[in-house]
Amino acid sequence: MKYSSTRNHGISIQSAQVIANGLALDGGLYIPKEIPTLSKQDFEYLKGCDYKTRAKEILGRFLTDFTNRELEYCCNGAYSGTFDNDNPAPVKKLESNLSVLELWHGPTCAFKDLALQILPYLMTVSVKKNGGTHKTVILVATSGDTGKAALEGFCDVEGTAIMVFYPTDGVSNMQKKQMSTQSGDNVNVCAIKGNFDDAQSGVKQIFGDSKCAEILKRNGYAFSSANSINWGRLAPQIVYYVSAYLDMDCPAQMNVVVPTGNFGNILAAYYAKEMGVPIKKLICASNSNKVLTDFINTGIYDKNREFFTTVSPSMDILISSNLERLLYLLSGDDTLVASLMQQLKTVGKYTVPDEVFKKLQQSFYGDFCSEDETLKTIKATFDKYGYLIDTHTAVAMTVAQRYATQCDGTTPTLVVSTASPYKFSPAVSRSLGIALGADEFETVENLENATGTKAPQPIKELKNKEVRFNKVVNKEDMRGEVLNFLGIK
Ligand SMILES: *Cc1c(COP(=O)(O)O)cnc(C)c1O
Repeated sequence: MKYSSTRNHGISIQSAQVIANGLALDGGLYIPKEIPTLSKQDFEYLKGCDYKTRAKEILGRFLTDFTNRELEYCCNGAYSGTFDNDNPAPVKKLESNLSVLELWHGPTCAFKDLALQILPYLMTVSVKKNGGTHKTVILVATSGDTGKAALEGFCDVEGTAIMVFYPTDGVSNMQKKQMSTQSGDNVNVCAIKGNFDDAQSGVKQIFGDSKCAEILKRNGYAFSSANSINWGRLAPQIVYYVSAYLDMDCPAQMNVVVPTGNFGNILAAYYAKEMGVPIKKLICASNSNKVLTDFINTGIYDKNREFFTTVSPSMDILISSNLERLLYLLSGDDTLVASLMQQLKTVGKYTVPDEVFKKLQQSFYGDFCSEDETLKTIKATFDKYGYLIDTHTAVAMTVAQRYATQCDGTTPTLVVSTASPYKFSPAVSRSLGIALGADEFETVENLENATGTKAPQPIKELKNKEVRFNKVVNKEDMRGEVLNFLGIK
């Protein structure tokens, strides 16, 4: 299997290089040149396998330069004993045509664990395969969930070090506590004065600083990224869609509803569909930041609009970077993709050609959900099924129910649940009319007592964990912090 860039057909490299590099040099995203398919026999075989074996088989179709042993090492390391459930991605059936894919059984209680538990393994193996001897330094700018999931994934992984920057007033108390108490000898966390954009542009600046890269190289280090533009984060997400289809007893057709931000999760579902999972519609659910809903309904992507801060913050996004991969898959035209991305950069807007729009509508359906509806759905779902969902899942659930009523109520539907309700307990409590506690932990306890649903252990344990990182720096000092952390003068 060879990979090229969404902005340049000419590139042809293998997966180990793709994973180690992260982003293509032309600014595009790496993408496999073909999509492997799974046969009826493949599905029958996989049905009898556990999750890590399913992962090994499916990843093996994309990472063909990895040996069987290497794949086994990566999948066993990532998915044995790291999730609070035998199956890291279990399907919960709420009624005959409605199931939920629970992706929050990992150490940080959000779906990013499914990819970030395995990425460190894929990355260290890739670096070794490429003949590299350097230590990989992962730099992350986070608005919450990614930072913690990356820290947990890379914590004490040999040959790596990780540094996370977050905006000091831009994450929730629980998220701050999750990051500032992180254990491990190769981790560092630092708050910066500013917003998420400041943190992100600061990290980008360090990535692009050739002098800094030279200093690192001299000291045996090289930077890499754990962002969702890395193929090593996307490929593992395809696995749980195949796995869910098998666990739903291979229905003739199914719809999948994904609460979407950066378009990584739903793109993995599209790959699963192209591999042979009979997905009828990929339903893209947005919150009030509905740039994707409008795009799917009109073929016009326009980020020039008001930005809303919502109760589903991990979906508060106006530039969905992984959409670039879909545009390439639908058009097969690297020149077109490069031109659309240029337009996005200069005027914040582009329109796709008719043929691409038609194909987009064949596979995708887009809808969104208001703040009020999100909170109402949490309550309605709990009242009807005794099942507690978080704000992001509630966005998908609202859209799923409207789709069932208005478009198709007979096809089995899988709602993707991306976070534990306890990660967003203040909003969940508000929707159920449960009093908030004096602090975030008392709020969790109140919610547990009122609903009889247990909070995940990693969240409860935080209460007594010691804060290890409390530094707040100016944006200009981020580079110095990184060098200092690595012990470079
Ligand atoms: C990151 C995240 C999303 C959005 O996923 P994308 O792959 O960026 O579309 C949705 N829900 C939660 C809880 C998340 O952390």
